[in-house]
Amino acid sequence: MRVVLATHNANKVREFQGILGRMLPELEIVAYDGPEPVEDGTSFDENALIKARAAAAHTGLPALADDSGICVDVLGGAPGIFSARWAGHGRGAQANLELLLDQLADIAPEHRAARFACHIALVVPETGFEQVVSGSWPGSIATAARGAEGHGYDPIFVPEGLEVTAAQLTAEQKNAVSHRARAFDAAVPMLRMSLITD
Ligand code: IMP
Repeated sequence: MRVVLATHNANKVREFQGILGRMLPELEIVAYDGPEPVEDGTSFDENALIKARAAAAHTGLPALADDSGICVDVLGGAPGIFSARWAGHGRGAQANLELLLDQLADIAPEHRAARFACHIALVVPETGFEQVVSGSWPGSIATAARGAEGHGYDPIFVPEGLEVTAAQLTAEQKNAVSHRARAFDAAVPMLRMSLITD
């Protein structure tokens, strides 16, 4: 069963194939090379669906898309869908996390709760099936960046139950428990139910 993944990022295609293909060997994830839609949704669900619908419409294939970010309680869930450009378009990951640290500078440790979220949409043009599943990784925002692994906000995110940041975990440790791992777990039954009929 061929499924197009709404990303131009080859690493993401490999990640999806590696994780989902282990559990669903009949699945073949292919990269999307069509036009990218404007991500003008107001939630992770909407943006994931916008991307999956565009890839499904362009290719005629079942399409998967993901949207993720970090949500801070005291900021009302922000940066949320604005995570990739929190410090402004094109400013980059370091500027994003520095701004977040600065915004929380006066906030006590017990009020720095946050979570990473990953939402995965599936759109099947043949049947009209549309669904979004999600995974969440709870934790808190550190007072300073620590660690060199990972990407994005990893150096300032302390997962619940740990003393280290996500950037101090190995890729294997992070991939076993992260928001993405949890979203992948939820995506398997969705794919099985909607695509694999025999
Ligand atoms: P995307 O939807 O996967 O492109 O993620 C959007 C943004 O959310 C990224 O640019 C990061 O800033 C942030 N983000 C999502 N997942 C992670 C993660 O696992 N670690 C650190 N930052 C993340």
